[in-house]
Amino acid sequence: MKIAILSRNKNLYSTRRLVEAAEARGHEIDVIDTLHCYMDITSNKPTVRYHGKELPKYDAVIPRIGASVTFYGTAVVRQFEMMGTFIVNESVAISRSRDKLRSMQLLSRKGVGLPRTGFASKPDNVKDLIKNVGGAPVVIKLLEGTQGIGVVLAETTKSAEAIIEAFMGLKANILVQEFIKEAGGVDIRCLVVGGKVIAAMKRQGAEGEFRSNLHRGGSAVLVKLSKEERATAVMSAKVMGLGMCGVDILRAERGPVVMEVNSSPGLEGIEMATNKDVAGMIIEYIEKNAKEGNTRTKGNG
Ligand code: ADP
Repeated sequence: MKIAILSRNKNLYSTRRLVEAAEARGHEIDVIDTLHCYMDITSNKPTVRYHGKELPKYDAVIPRIGASVTFYGTAVVRQFEMMGTFIVNESVAISRSRDKLRSMQLLSRKGVGLPRTGFASKPDNVKDLIKNVGGAPVVIKLLEGTQGIGVVLAETTKSAEAIIEAFMGLKANILVQEFIKEAGGVDIRCLVVGGKVIAAMKRQGAEGEFRSNLHRGGSAVLVKLSKEERATAVMSAKVMGLGMCGVDILRAERGPVVMEVNSSPGLEGIEMATNKDVAGMIIEYIEKNAKEGNTRTKGNG
């Protein structure tokens, strides 16, 4: 097969591993810098150009679109969809997962476990917003934050109000969320590929830190999932429409609650923690599913 990875940096661990795994399985694979692609949007023959040439017809595209290039990246992905190319994660699914609020709205409709969450832009009653999710302590999140940046724990109603007002002053959209204290700074990252959890790890935040992000100094180990956790992860990927994703779950007393669904999950932490060839399993998924025209959006974008 001829596969393309859309990635800004061919030296990133995840990109390198996907290249290695594809080549090991006898495929041809190109790393294409998403921002350097340009599109020829013309009737009946949409193409993607790169370095002055039309890109060849690929059997599959693996998008690795960073949060900072979502707008342009999803447009490039969409262009491949218009050409009928099989895409591991389609543009609409990436856009859905990038927006925490949109994701939670979609997940809640399907009954997926979630922390109780309020969303606000200019709440006229901040106290009620806090009370409605169960009162302090609450977690306040910037809608567009990543890697734990913009996620704040407010221990008291007073500090929650002050933080909410500060964010409002910056015209930021925020989520106010029930604090899942019993998670104890631990979250579970499930890697779902093709509707199955292929690997899972437990991440523990650094000492005194409620955020478990590896970027914030957390550490990761292999974990065994309960049936309910596995079903939650699979359902989340399905609701978002993602062929491959990382589903972050907290262990709440009432069962698993989903934190977020990531359409470009890093492979390094999970391959190290589980000792699994995750990149190889992603390529295997592509081998089984890559057919021209096998797109969910059917060109509807
Ligand atoms: P980001 O997308 O920036 O990583 P998350 O919403 O995933 O932000 O939050 C980062 C981390 O903070 C989570 O992985 C989790 O460990 C912790 N966390 C977030 N929300 C809650 C919550 N409501 N209760 C307990 N811990 C939380």
